[in-house]
Amino acid sequence: YQLIRESNRIMAMRSSSFMLILVGVLSACAPSPSEDSSANYTDSDTKRPNIVILFLDDAGYGDFGYTGNPLIRTPNIDRIAAEGMRFTQFYSASPACTASRYALLTGRLPVRAGFGWVLTPSSPRGIHPEEWTLAEGLRDRGYATAIYGKWHLGRPEEYLPLQHGFDEYLGLPYSNDMQPPQWISLPLIEGNEVVELDPDQTLLTATFTRRAVEFIERDRQEPFFLYVPYSMPHLPLMPGAAFAGGSPRGTYGDVIEELDWSIGEIIGAINKRGLAKNTLVFFTSDNGPWIIKNEHGGSAGPFRDGKGSTWEGGMREPGIAWWPGTVPKGSVDHEVATTMDIYVTALQLAGARVPTDRTVDGHDISPRLRGSSSSGPRNPLYYYGPGQKLHAVRQGPWKMHIMTSSQTGIDYFEAKLPLLFHLERDPGERWDVADQFPEVIERLESLVSTHVTDVAAEGSFFDRN
Ligand code: MG
Repeated sequence: YQLIRESNRIMAMRSSSFMLILVGVLSACAPSPSEDSSANYTDSDTKRPNIVILFLDDAGYGDFGYTGNPLIRTPNIDRIAAEGMRFTQFYSASPACTASRYALLTGRLPVRAGFGWVLTPSSPRGIHPEEWTLAEGLRDRGYATAIYGKWHLGRPEEYLPLQHGFDEYLGLPYSNDMQPPQWISLPLIEGNEVVELDPDQTLLTATFTRRAVEFIERDRQEPFFLYVPYSMPHLPLMPGAAFAGGSPRGTYGDVIEELDWSIGEIIGAINKRGLAKNTLVFFTSDNGPWIIKNEHGGSAGPFRDGKGSTWEGGMREPGIAWWPGTVPKGSVDHEVATTMDIYVTALQLAGARVPTDRTVDGHDISPRLRGSSSSGPRNPLYYYGPGQKLHAVRQGPWKMHIMTSSQTGIDYFEAKLPLLFHLERDPGERWDVADQFPEVIERLESLVSTHVTDVAAEGSFFDRN
């Protein structure tokens, strides 16, 4: 096995040095912003994988069979975890819907967006036209692109998915609870048109599933990017009729079990088309569970707090990568990874450009997906909380909180700041060790100060024009 790996490595080196020469010739006649990242790829030698992102809304780390939930049955999610790679330290970039989706689709920290962490139906802003989304990057490389589900990156038409790289869109423009009586109506949008007001939400998961499966089944030559940001288990919980009342974990369990069914349908369609060996599927959630809703909210598993909080429960998510034949079966990655890494990794795998005219915070984790490399010491991970304020930083095992917020309203450490936790020994953030490790605090404080200065200096696209 070691020999095979070694010979593959040598062959990869040979082909990449050949490609560098070829790209050198090409770029002389067509200078392109993609030249950096596409140096190792061309259409002829690299089969660009299909990219599928299955993105739950408000599901917690502990809501799945494979993460230890004793009541919720998720055989399809458990199967892709067993067939692929599961991450034990996978993060969304924000504990809130909008900010998290911005980061997933741009590879950038939510603070760079230029708008708040949750957009409402009347928010005037959305994702800026100059952001370069994953859909734009992949479409630029010839991918067919589609989103079926919850967008939440701006309601005005200029901010809807079709204006940001997607060929097709069917879904809700924001959260499924932004409906009467608080708001006038909740629209279901196809393309740029409202096709239904206040749709029957018990049909949504099945509808997004059917559209996703149809999209996969289509005859096409080009690769595809399919983004399925489900509108649940965000409240209100509306399981389909076939699932209502079936789970021992109540309505929340019903909803997760329907989502699991949906994922089974999508994976089944990929398998049936013979696309499994050329399709990378990521599965995760936008933020942690809504724990104050008690049995209507999910579980953060061993982690503290939930959605809206920068305690681990707000941002530590289930994470699975599935790509039979490439991602080693049954593998576990114990290092930090984030949704922003999905952006960079997918672009790299497609031979697409990663923008260099702005800060991109994600990292290419494709070597880790192949099981052949560790990422080494990772750049810091920044936790942005309510109001896009920096709340915490993590480097290696150390996490320092400089502000805290909790969904429960509990101030767990009675206003003491900064707080320091060793996440590998204390993933539940129970034992503050700030007083024992002043040198770590000092190092992290210096990181924070540089980071805050850099972020402020770069600003957002809204600041520039
Ligand atoms: Mg959410």
